[in-house]
Amino acid sequence: MVTTRFAPSPTGYIHVGNLRTALMNYLIARKAGGEFILRIDDTDPERSKEEYVDAIKQDLEWLGLTWDRVERQSERLDRYAEAADRLREMGRFYECFESPTELDLKRKKQLNMGKPPVYDRAALDLSEDDKAKLREERGGYWRFKLDQERIEWKDGIVGDISIDAASVSDPVLIRADGQVLYTLASVVDDTEMGVTHVVRGADHVTNTATQIQIIAALGGNVPEFAHHSLLTGPQGEALSKRLGTLSLRDLRAQGIEPMALLSLMARLGSSDPIELQMEMSTLIDGFEIGHFGTASTKFDEADLRPLTAKVLHGTALEDAAADLMAAGVPDDLAAPFWAVVRENIETRADIAKWWAICRDGAEPVIEDDDAEFVVEAMSMLPDGPFDGDSWGNWTRAVKDATGRKGRGLFMPLRKALTGMSHGPDMGALLPLLQVIRAKG
Ligand code: GLU
Repeated sequence: MVTTRFAPSPTGYIHVGNLRTALMNYLIARKAGGEFILRIDDTDPERSKEEYVDAIKQDLEWLGLTWDRVERQSERLDRYAEAADRLREMGRFYECFESPTELDLKRKKQLNMGKPPVYDRAALDLSEDDKAKLREERGGYWRFKLDQERIEWKDGIVGDISIDAASVSDPVLIRADGQVLYTLASVVDDTEMGVTHVVRGADHVTNTATQIQIIAALGGNVPEFAHHSLLTGPQGEALSKRLGTLSLRDLRAQGIEPMALLSLMARLGSSDPIELQMEMSTLIDGFEIGHFGTASTKFDEADLRPLTAKVLHGTALEDAAADLMAAGVPDDLAAPFWAVVRENIETRADIAKWWAICRDGAEPVIEDDDAEFVVEAMSMLPDGPFDGDSWGNWTRAVKDATGRKGRGLFMPLRKALTGMSHGPDMGALLPLLQVIRAKG
């Protein structure tokens, strides 16, 4: 069975970059009728917070990205310890003692000599006596001993990848304080949970190379890997600094609609056109991981606004009912109000603005040249309630009386009644106006 996972670390709110990864894994699983796991990578007890675990779940729920089960790395530490023991027995694990400063110095020397800054495996030469002495001064940490050969795989996005293991440092898998690091924990989980496809950011390519060897050492099945390009801002600038303001909760607070965000993220960076999908099922059917490219992907949050407006234009009354009620729209006006207003809003927050105009009347906007005309027109406006013919009948009478026609006739009336020069069809809006302030 196709099994994928989204594996965030609960150290902050998730943002559009994380969503790209989550969505791709979700869509692959759903398209194949497989399983989607939400894996909480919380092996770092200092940085992981329960509130972020909750927030991640809420954000995914808001988007409708449902998971089949949740796994938590903090509950699987014994599994990682067991894997570490096996690697130790196989002679693939070795203890090191260099401090970060010492490692840094080594790297600088290598770079000065024009060599790649790869860990020199000096710890392999330590005798048992040396190690015992070092252990008295400082904790040892553990590295996985890579086989120095080429590591190759067919990447679902990048294509053929070949990495020379000799150009990669042996990865540290267990820290001096005993904390298991992501590289090992992730491999153990992926193998034991039967993960078949792993999509993640291009920043993980080297990790993948080392993980492929660790999986092989542990006798697991290597999943299909795909590495998507990283998002940049609209000018190609790094997005990392701005990701704080591109959290899913911020976008939600700005009124971005889930299907607008999902429709954009499911296609951005692929050869398929960005089209609004109103249903998750069509998003799933149309998703092709192989259509994504390796060039960095420009993300412009401004693109979410027209898509959001488009979602609202197509939103049925029942899906807006809660917002209409919250805005105070009476039940009997909900249907005609929504039919008129949905075409003219950008986010759901505009529902309340339009209802305030209908309920309380708008502050009239009247140009000097139109002042007399508006007074005369208003004196001809019959008392409500209005119906679908009221606007036509009224403006026809005003036209006959004043000789004004076209834009010169309609625009001053629209501005006087709504305070705006654009908006819904006035014939449909007039029956909804409970108060008309321009009448004076
Ligand atoms: N917790 C890792 C991260 O957020 C997961 C990476 C992976 O998908 O393996 O980077």
